[in-house]
Amino acid sequence: MTTRDRRAARELRGYLERLYGPQPTLTLTTAEEVSSERVYVYVGGVVPAPPATDDGQTYGATSFDHYAPAFVTVVARLASRLVAIRSARYAPGGGLVPACAQDGAEDLHAVYGKLFPDGAVEVDVPWQELARAVAEELSEAGLLDRLQSGQIKSKFASLRWYFDSIPQSSKSKVNYILRAATDLSTVVCERCGAPGEHRRRAWHVIACDACEEAQRKGRRGGGG
Ligand SMILES: [Zn+2]
Repeated sequence: MTTRDRRAARELRGYLERLYGPQPTLTLTTAEEVSSERVYVYVGGVVPAPPATDDGQTYGATSFDHYAPAFVTVVARLASRLVAIRSARYAPGGGLVPACAQDGAEDLHAVYGKLFPDGAVEVDVPWQELARAVAEELSEAGLLDRLQSGQIKSKFASLRWYFDSIPQSSKSKVNYILRAATDLSTVVCERCGAPGEHRRRAWHVIACDACEEAQRKGRRGGGG
């Protein structure tokens, strides 16, 4: 494994463990073929540990099962795609090659057209990369046809994706993938994309430990 492979595997484990708890049986396999600037890591053996079910309202029989194996598989695959996309920006020695949100939104539009209309993408680069992972998943599943987004944003620290047009025939499949993306977004730092978690500041945000620490120091440094 190269340094980049190990970093990709570490990030992937970070996302999955923040979502599903410690994963002693997790297997992360780096793809053999070196076909692009991306690192592809395949996921196996995810065993989600659902939270205690004392809250009947949240985890009742009628609720969507976020821990169903088929659903967890989709989340894990999206996480793997996200890491592959991010890995193209891995800088030697750590950090990420900086990227511009405006350029990112324009590139999504150039590649995927009406899935990302002008002005629809309101998230920063890390969640744009998550949105790209979703687009790749939709594309591979043959679900892009006649799909038009209205708005893609962060609300209460999770990804919200609204459609202007969505065919009845693919609606449930598209929404299933988007539900997976929304779950995944809750562990992707909105500022840098590293594995993170929900922080309650003046507003809700997902932040990694480093970005949270920087934010706190910045606030103190500002006389707080
Ligand atoms: Zn961060």
